[in-house]
Amino acid sequence: MVAVRTRFAPSPTGALHVGGVRTALFSYLYARHLRGRFVLRIEDTDRQRSTQASVDEIIGALRWLSIDWDEGPFFQTQRMELYRETIERLLQAGHAYTCTCTPEELDAKRKAAMQGGGSAGYDRHCRPGFGPGPEPGRPAAIRFAMPLEGEAVIDDLVKDRVVFRNADVEDFVIARSDGWPTYNLVASVDDADMSISHVIRGDDLLPSTPKQIALYKALGAPVPSFAHLPQVLGVDRARLSKRHAATAVTSYRELGYYPDALVNFLARLGWSHGDQEVFSRKELIHAFSLESVGRSAGVFNLEKLDWLNFQYLKARSPAALASDLRPFMASRGIAVPGDDAWLARMAGTLRERAKTLGELTDMAGYYLADEITLDDKAAAKFLTPQSVPLLETVTERLAALPVWDLATIESVFTGLIGETGAKLGALAQPVRVALTGGTVSPGIYEVLDVLGRERSILRLRNAIETARVAAH
Ligand code: GLU
Repeated sequence: MVAVRTRFAPSPTGALHVGGVRTALFSYLYARHLRGRFVLRIEDTDRQRSTQASVDEIIGALRWLSIDWDEGPFFQTQRMELYRETIERLLQAGHAYTCTCTPEELDAKRKAAMQGGGSAGYDRHCRPGFGPGPEPGRPAAIRFAMPLEGEAVIDDLVKDRVVFRNADVEDFVIARSDGWPTYNLVASVDDADMSISHVIRGDDLLPSTPKQIALYKALGAPVPSFAHLPQVLGVDRARLSKRHAATAVTSYRELGYYPDALVNFLARLGWSHGDQEVFSRKELIHAFSLESVGRSAGVFNLEKLDWLNFQYLKARSPAALASDLRPFMASRGIAVPGDDAWLARMAGTLRERAKTLGELTDMAGYYLADEITLDDKAAAKFLTPQSVPLLETVTERLAALPVWDLATIESVFTGLIGETGAKLGALAQPVRVALTGGTVSPGIYEVLDVLGRERSILRLRNAIETARVAAH
């Protein structure tokens, strides 16, 4: 049996997108499931478009998601010697030849061929024995001489059998005239050199596969197995784009999704295991197989991600949630005004309402900020001159409490209701507006408890001032 070796081979030319990381995840899960090795290879040979920022972002996103690799990261720009030697070897063996056709000539020939209903591929002008050959003195690219007979048969592990006739595949460029090797060359050389047994990648690369198979054969390397994954689509079945949802993985980190929830969600994009939705990492590794990857596209449904994230958030202990929130809030420039026990209590009042750490943080504004802004409508309705006497009494009694805890706070309200016959709502709503600025919040005793005496009293006194001068 071949040792299973998979790889993720991103080009660092932009942000890592959810479709890309799904490819990484499937390669990782496949290797882990079969106790193989997972290799990270950065395909940075496009010098114009590759950036260090993108490399950092890709590596950071994989680390955040704990999609850990066993070997690498390898950088193709550090492996140029190997590519040069290989190209030399292919030239020597007659598997490659120099081509001096200029881009303008190629363009003109392509147009003419297409008008005549012919194939748009290279016309083999420079291939020995087929055309006039290269012109000395011109810049020369190097092309691979495709076999003219036979087929590339791909028994794809997702798409089943796909067959390309070699004669239909053009003699593709393996080195540009500036000497730089192209994607098809470097990917095949590396897959061979790194003994990759299973190439798992997006099906947008399927047209490259017959070229790469011809290259492995010319290099005398075994042809790996392939799994071409269908694309990730938006809910309207159009290719996933920013219109549907954030596409960069880092956005989900910034929005406060749990990495495990995102991994769980990505795993289910095109793969299924019965009707199970929530998987631990161990369960994913145990259950994953390429046979259960569907042939149709995975649909990116943000509501489902939110639902999953909520499951992960719900499962966190209060202490764990506090330790998630502190660095998350810090990343948003928020200094938490309390210790972890306080943070846990605070989050406890909101966790049922938030699907992400980001939502929870947004909702926690009145707990976190020194000062609050009153919602105009809420203030106009509840902070009226008529509300002043009751607000004053409640404030005095709260200020005088010997201890500040839920039960004691509650006794102030039940006492007042008993004495005055006021409804809890009539009492609680002005207090809520005073403390939070708005009319929707967790239970008012909890809010008081979490805010603490000092901040609560200060906000109540400010609200009383506002109410006193409000128009009738
Ligand atoms: N570097 C290629 C890309 O990011 C993928 C190469 C491959 O998986 O073969 O599109």
